[in-house]
Amino acid sequence: MKTKQLLLASSVMIALAGCSTADSATKIDASQKNDVWYKEAQAQIELAKANAPIKKPAKNVILFVGDGMSVGTITAARIFEGQRRGMLGEEYKLAMETLPSVALSKTYNTNAQIPDSAGTATAMVSGVKTKSGVISIDDNVQRGFCNTAKGNEVETAWEMAAEKGLSVGVVSTARITHATPATAYAHSADRNWENDAAMPNIAKNQGCVDIAQQLIDFDKGDGLQVVFGGGRSQFLPDSVTDEEGKNGKRKDGRNLISEWEAKHSDGQYVWDKAGFDKLDANTKRVFGLFEPSHMKYEADRRDGEPSLAEMTSKAIDILGNNQDGFLLMVEAGRIDHAHHDTNAARALADTIALDDAIKAALDKTNPEETLIIVTADHAHTFIMNGYADRGNPILGLSKLGGKYNEDEFGKRYTTLGYGNGANAVDGPRNNPTQDEVMALDYKQQALIKFSSETHSGEDVAIFAKGPEAYLFQGAVEQNYIYHVINEALGLAE
Ligand SMILES: [Zn+2]
Repeated sequence: MKTKQLLLASSVMIALAGCSTADSATKIDASQKNDVWYKEAQAQIELAKANAPIKKPAKNVILFVGDGMSVGTITAARIFEGQRRGMLGEEYKLAMETLPSVALSKTYNTNAQIPDSAGTATAMVSGVKTKSGVISIDDNVQRGFCNTAKGNEVETAWEMAAEKGLSVGVVSTARITHATPATAYAHSADRNWENDAAMPNIAKNQGCVDIAQQLIDFDKGDGLQVVFGGGRSQFLPDSVTDEEGKNGKRKDGRNLISEWEAKHSDGQYVWDKAGFDKLDANTKRVFGLFEPSHMKYEADRRDGEPSLAEMTSKAIDILGNNQDGFLLMVEAGRIDHAHHDTNAARALADTIALDDAIKAALDKTNPEETLIIVTADHAHTFIMNGYADRGNPILGLSKLGGKYNEDEFGKRYTTLGYGNGANAVDGPRNNPTQDEVMALDYKQQALIKFSSETHSGEDVAIFAKGPEAYLFQGAVEQNYIYHVINEALGLAE
């Protein structure tokens, strides 16, 4: 009896395998076949089938990094933007979610379960993991010790691409000398050595150079063609006041912006939106520093600064002049800062600003020649508490069936929260109101008290589209990202 059943089962399987196009007569007439969810997913299957891997080199690569953009951040941002557009929210699809190849990235540093942006970005740009806090130097370095950096510098994809004749650029809403963008063009035993005054004398005496100066000195190939971000004060001496009335931080008396202008007669320095708007595709080289420190959060940005999407679009116009191709990093650096502040509203708005930049890149590049990768460097302790109704305002109090949900002490709570952060209490939790939690400045409640919330060690997502994007499969070590860039651009052995 058993044998017969097995035989029957296997003959059915053989019969099914024998039909290349399944015979409709053998198919079940599923009662749910006209359900909207069923039909939408079927359409999605057809799109997926039509999406063949592109197994050939890329001309251009754009790496988008949402600093601190955990998977939960993406989910919440999707709902946030969907609700801003008048939908329930959960069903909204971000531009980054349309990229067909997806993998998980394991973000730990060689010496840390919970990583920082310097070690993680080094992994993405160089192909090797390293310690927390160090910029494009391998694991032999001891953070803060200049003498341990010497000889242990790794070559970055940006250096290699420039040497191969590609145009290279870095764009960030953070200071351009901050950890993530710095890994593309600098090598430093400490991420905090952004200007000379931030370095200990012993490091300077041992020959280490600050990150701002390394940006100006970058001379691989034709140098950096596009630099857009914040961080102007890192490039100016403390005796000089910038266009917005802030003094520089440098103690060596050097004005690196003037030095950059003297070095690049083909270049243009811009500091505000008006200057930015005058740039066009004929611009050969540009150095844009739009704030003394980090650029503004998207929720606070007004006319003075370009958006991340505008910077990305302009960078593609300028870098795209090189017929040999380009390599561009675009960092949404402030998702991380808002999370450290447990200020979900700003974190989500900056995530949407990144998504707008991704959309701009998708709109103006050809997927047959440009590999687009979207990822995060690390996650945050950002959570979504249960159980609100579908469509409940994502920033709001948790509400079910018209009534606010309460904890076991009868207190209301928000869907979004943090494992640790500034708005933690020693004693009873306060009972928030809807007006309070919907305010832009509201800091979500946290369990463990810290003035600045920490990163978390969960995996982050990688989304990709274009040549070699199919190589993103399964859960990968974060340094694998470099190796896909390398496959696409053929940089190194
Ligand atoms: Zn951070």
